[in-house]
Amino acid sequence: MQLEEVQILALCDFDINKVPKFLHRFLIFDDKILKERWDICNNCEFLNKKLKCEQCGCFMRLKTRMGKMSCPIGKWGKV
Ligand code: SF4
Repeated sequence: MQLEEVQILALCDFDINKVPKFLHRFLIFDDKILKERWDICNNCEFLNKKLKCEQCGCFMRLKTRMGKMSCPIGKWGKV
């Protein structure tokens, strides 16, 4: 994924209907995987109050939706 695509996604507030269709191929739509990832982050000591990871600096509502992304300390992986 190119930085530009990440930046476009970062502007979306995760109402999936607001994400441009051409970016959907980068996203996960499997609720089970999304819940598993989010549950791990939500209970992680590195998730701050702004829902950003203090290890990678990413906004985790976005990152957990992106299939090719992974936790920087190995708590969850790519799909
Ligand atoms: S990506 Fe990893 S280190 Fe960051 S908040 Fe999630 S589980 Fe924690």
